[in-house]
Amino acid sequence: MRQKIFRFIVSGALIFMVVGPASAQVKKPRIYISVDIEGIAHVVNAQTAAGQFDYERGRRLMTAEVNAAIEGCLAAGAGEIIVSDSHGNAQNIIPEELNEKAYLIRSFPRPLLQMEGIDSSFDGVIFIGYHPREGTPEANLSHTIWGTKFGEIKVNGRVVSEALFNAAVAGHFEVPVILVCGDQNVVKEARENFPGVETAMTKQSLGFLSAMSPHPKVVQAEIRKKAEQAVRKIKEIKPFMVQKPVLLEIAFKNIFDAETTAYLPWVKRTEGKVIQVEFADMLETNRFITALFAINNRT
Ligand SMILES: [Zn+2]
Repeated sequence: MRQKIFRFIVSGALIFMVVGPASAQVKKPRIYISVDIEGIAHVVNAQTAAGQFDYERGRRLMTAEVNAAIEGCLAAGAGEIIVSDSHGNAQNIIPEELNEKAYLIRSFPRPLLQMEGIDSSFDGVIFIGYHPREGTPEANLSHTIWGTKFGEIKVNGRVVSEALFNAAVAGHFEVPVILVCGDQNVVKEARENFPGVETAMTKQSLGFLSAMSPHPKVVQAEIRKKAEQAVRKIKEIKPFMVQKPVLLEIAFKNIFDAETTAYLPWVKRTEGKVIQVEFADMLETNRFITALFAINNRT
């Protein structure tokens, strides 16, 4: 019996030696796609929330841009693709219209908010429909995470957008952002901060509630092409990482929110509307922001 087991192990080892390295080489890249809505082409004003007259169009356009990215990834040989609906109530993408090769993460709350599910098993991250940060001039629908409550958010003293914040969450696992899609501000920021990243410009922001875009099919073709290029050069793109511990600062729009958040003993109030907290890493930082968001939004 023992001998038999031994023989089994030996043959198993031989098989591994022959098959192992070859199969490791053909491991298909695993892709995580985080999807917001404000950076989608032709989503400019009344396309972002249930109840608005044009919301259904916003959802369809959002789903179509995600599908374009998925098709590009698959054309370049991507393996598993996880899509994270990361806007509003996180139930915008239309599941039955999504490419059937992808998995879809829906609904809030969830600990890592717009990056829930990310871990070191992924090879690359794609941002679809991303928008500029709070306070950017000529930036269609700009805000940072929670438009009605948060002003500026700083990580280690630097003002961040959702793209930078979420890239740093992926960076915790050393996963690079390989493609970013949004307006001219989003594209510029991505190129400045994620060397080697591919970008697709979906719109030229003209003001907070106005933008100009090419036809949706033209934008989607561009996203498909850039996603394919991004996956093909995935090994060349470096992750965006921030130093640990992480110092988070949030400037609230309402002084009451800063006051009540600072009732927590580990939260420091540095100005009337500003709080500061130190966390071990980006995961703790993200969970704290999610907690603030979820506690206030539970209905
Ligand atoms: Zn957003």
